[in-house]
Amino acid sequence: MQWSEGSAFPIEDALEMIFVFDRRGTISYANVTAKKKLEYEEDLNGRHISDIFPGTFKASDDGFCTEYPFGTQIQNLVAYRKNLTCFPVETRIIESTVHPENYICMANDTLEKEYLNREITHVKQEAEQALKVKSEFVANVTHELRTPVNGVLGNTRELLDQVTDEQILKSLRLIERCCGDMNKIINNILDFSKLEAGKFVLEPRRFHFRNMLDYVRSQHINKLTEKGLGFFMTVSPQIPEYVVGDELRIVQILNNLLSNAQKFTAVGKITVEVVRTARVNDKIELFFIVKDTGIGIDKADRDKLFQSFSQVDASISRKYGGTGLGLNICKQLAELMGGKIEVESEKNKGSTFSFSIWVGICEGDDALSAQPEDNAARPGMFMAAPQEEEGNAEDAILYGTPENKEVLKKSLSKLILCVEMENWEKAEMFMETIRQLTQGAPREVSRLILKLKMAVQKENYEKVSAGYEELSELIK
Ligand code: ADP
Repeated sequence: MQWSEGSAFPIEDALEMIFVFDRRGTISYANVTAKKKLEYEEDLNGRHISDIFPGTFKASDDGFCTEYPFGTQIQNLVAYRKNLTCFPVETRIIESTVHPENYICMANDTLEKEYLNREITHVKQEAEQALKVKSEFVANVTHELRTPVNGVLGNTRELLDQVTDEQILKSLRLIERCCGDMNKIINNILDFSKLEAGKFVLEPRRFHFRNMLDYVRSQHINKLTEKGLGFFMTVSPQIPEYVVGDELRIVQILNNLLSNAQKFTAVGKITVEVVRTARVNDKIELFFIVKDTGIGIDKADRDKLFQSFSQVDASISRKYGGTGLGLNICKQLAELMGGKIEVESEKNKGSTFSFSIWVGICEGDDALSAQPEDNAARPGMFMAAPQEEEGNAEDAILYGTPENKEVLKKSLSKLILCVEMENWEKAEMFMETIRQLTQGAPREVSRLILKLKMAVQKENYEKVSAGYEELSELIK
């Protein structure tokens, strides 16, 4: 085999210098980098290896003598250019296994490597600093935005108590709702930018664990009941009454997961389960499982779910708003609390979000510490839901089945009831349920659903009534 430049040698353009020399020390190949760095215009072939590394290789009668320890271990040598100036290099010289008569030498300019490493660190630091400045700016702006929004909200609430005119009341309620939505977005952006800037600080304190869960339940139960969804919560007796953690942030993760579960579930139930999975000294690991029977998420979409600004279905996101930051914030919060968040889901078969966190326990609070942990509920081994009936959520989702027809009719009558009571916010919620229930329906049904949805969004009573009549007739 000839080590010639002309051959299609894959290492020709490598960033490190590469030589091949034989047992006599004669170089039979040098790549372009080697020629450039050693400043040889002509070919290096035919030169002796001692021309490059005179301090390590000496020419002798039978080739060369050296104490170089051949092998993959990196050795620091000094390489000489053609003009006899030199520079330090990191080398590995191995005996070729394919051509045992040859040695292969790979050498890196140490100074250049150090310079590049310094440059990379510098560029990285600059990028991090720029991100930090940007995040700080966003945090400041959103913080400043809060004041005027809360000012509008406060004044609107005051006016709501004073005004009796129905038309003005309607407008004021709309302003109140918009301010509430705006506050949610501002809070999300604020949390996100603080997390990104590394300025987020947890505030752990001792709190009553089950009271916290009751509070979470109270925030969702009305919406879930109105939607006709079952809601079940189970807590392992292994979890002590009081734990030490950032209650506000645990509530935030649960609220986000439950709002999503409610948002994306038309029929069936939502279950929350909390178990204790480990204890190390005065800390225990809690594992939360939030399971729904909703629209589910494709495998491809699941991977980008926890990225910031990522929403799976643009049409649903447009309908509900949202910044796509919720799950990313949950992920970062769970990680800050020493845990992680995961999702298991299948399209049209519901989703199961689970997250773990570590909380502290105070002396005397953990009366049950001698008992084993709830190991059955480790990630990937979701415990069965409590004793309630499994229901027929899947059939109800499938358009055309008797179950679907029944749930669809119920949702339609709830929609029209809300419209009659001018509760447009709830009407929109039922409209989304109806949309989910009619996925895969014939075109004439889909077209009517779209019309009905637009009428609800425009709060047009006449058009909603007409659409309702038409649709009811069609699905009779
Ligand atoms: P946002 O802050 O806009 O609500 P999230 O980060 O909470 O965004 O959610 C991102 C997207 O993940 C949602 O827009 C939705 O497409 C999908 N998603 C989240 N939870 C569920 C769920 N339980 N079922 C189906 N899709 C979900």
